[in-house]
Amino acid sequence: MPIKLPSFRPRKDAYPPDLWTRCPGCQEMLFNKQLDKADRVCPSCSHHFRLSAAARIEAIFDPGSFVERDPGLQSVDALGFVDQKAYPDRLAAAQVATGMRDAAIRGVGAIEGIWVSGCVMDFAFMGGSMGAVVGEKVARAAEDAVNERMPLLIVSASGGARMQEGTLALMQLAKTVAAIERLRAAGLPYISLMTDPTTGGVFASYAVLGDINLAEPNALIGFAGARVNAGTIAQELPPGFQRAEFLFDHGFVDRVIHRSEVRGEIAALLRFLVPAPGPRGADDGGIPVFRPMSFLSSLADRMIGEPDPMPVTSDPGRSDPGRSDPSGRRDTTEEDRRG
Ligand SMILES: [Zn+2]
Repeated sequence: MPIKLPSFRPRKDAYPPDLWTRCPGCQEMLFNKQLDKADRVCPSCSHHFRLSAAARIEAIFDPGSFVERDPGLQSVDALGFVDQKAYPDRLAAAQVATGMRDAAIRGVGAIEGIWVSGCVMDFAFMGGSMGAVVGEKVARAAEDAVNERMPLLIVSASGGARMQEGTLALMQLAKTVAAIERLRAAGLPYISLMTDPTTGGVFASYAVLGDINLAEPNALIGFAGARVNAGTIAQELPPGFQRAEFLFDHGFVDRVIHRSEVRGEIAALLRFLVPAPGPRGADDGGIPVFRPMSFLSSLADRMIGEPDPMPVTSDPGRSDPGRSDPSGRRDTTEEDRRG
């Protein structure tokens, strides 16, 4: 939920609100109040305008059910980054403009009575860029889903990693993907909804890792921009490149859904994707849970490339030094079975 900043008057009072918005799809002038009522979808051409995180939460979750978690997480300026503006100044300006502390809100809430752990991004906050806070919120949303055995829902809207946080932002790709992997191993569903735009590091990490990847109509979804892509392959790009429908046609997106149907669609999917019963792990013969230490040691086994004098795995194929597990699953080690 938006935070209150006591030292600033809300923007609404300071400026008279714009009454009209021109639709980029059909050029029609739309009355803002009516546009808000229609969840910011153009009534004549169905153009989907960007939605704030707060409005998105209201549109998806049961009324009053969403409880925000970690509202106080805030980015630090670890690098002392300055471009045209110092990073802390940029953050402060974005906080005043949006009433949010960073580009994502996370918490738990019900969708048609089914409780989920959710994280919703907001493009209005520094282009929805993913710094340490967004990465942490996504990871914690996945961890809460594992601990409380709930499905995970992430709504992405992002231009990519936050350059002002440099490597710290890039590290969020690995962190979020590891958290999603633990979720998968625990047998819990993850639904990803990609909205306009879902690009860069967010596309390259958690946004496309859903058990079901949904997208809103005409959303820009991709890694690098169209011009970079066209330049790299020195070819003209096909029409509709990097749009939701194009990705659907090529199997990257499972479904393109009109905003008015998003809530019902997610609820229907959640009724199919029921969390696996009870905590599962290597101990009870289920899918091995993610264990960083055993993961690293099995990785080290492969790197050394020599037969183990004392095989530590139950897999007979492991005596072959060059063999790596084609399924990508980690081997079950002694440590797993003890733990
Ligand atoms: Zn329109």
